[in-house]
Amino acid sequence: MKLSALKKTFGIALLSLVSINSFAQDIIARQAPSDRRLKDIHNVKLNNTVALSADLKDPAANIYTDWTDNLRSCTGAVPANYKIDLRGFCMPTPSRKINSPFGPRWGRQHEGLDIKVYIGDTIRAAFDGKVRICKYNGGGYGYYVVIRHPNGLETLYGHLSKQIVKKDQIVRAGEPIGLGGNTGKSNGSHLHFETRVLGQPINPALLFDFENQDVTGDYFVLKDGISKDKVAKK
Ligand SMILES: [Zn+2]
Repeated sequence: MKLSALKKTFGIALLSLVSINSFAQDIIARQAPSDRRLKDIHNVKLNNTVALSADLKDPAANIYTDWTDNLRSCTGAVPANYKIDLRGFCMPTPSRKINSPFGPRWGRQHEGLDIKVYIGDTIRAAFDGKVRICKYNGGGYGYYVVIRHPNGLETLYGHLSKQIVKKDQIVRAGEPIGLGGNTGKSNGSHLHFETRVLGQPINPALLFDFENQDVTGDYFVLKDGISKDKVAKK
């Protein structure tokens, strides 16, 4: 084959490869959930697969030094003005009904938000991340899952009827991780949802607006560390 012919063939092959690629990306983009933020991050992922997988293998390694299956093992000072990137979120449940807010309750701190769900309802990962804990606690959370995310947050999903992920599994935002339930210390089926940074609970309502099925903004900044008084209020 002459050089010019080779160039031509190669050129056509390259061109078709490019067009198949962009066609495939277009299909992937069109299959993505209709949510703007989730779609945006999926498009970014296609271009940054390598960087992202390192981030998911060891999420938020800049602030966490441990990886155990003990909920309260991770401690440390949260950096001042720590900025949490909420883009790419997925609401864990389409339910808009809050049964019980974060804050003092029955003489102790309720460290999460109770959202009405029914037994068997799909519960989804709030962000991309890696499953740190997948355990049962009969006197508390029942079947629960904790995921650590590259944005520094950890999310906890409690009272599940079933866990459908395993410890150390990498999950994507919106991926089903369990089914709604009434296990552990729970009166009526609901999702107990917690958001934590370095083991310290933050009011999930500061980040997630379940009523409107949205996040409260693209970013949430933890100013001057975490104070329980501050985070208890919406
Ligand atoms: Zn609760």
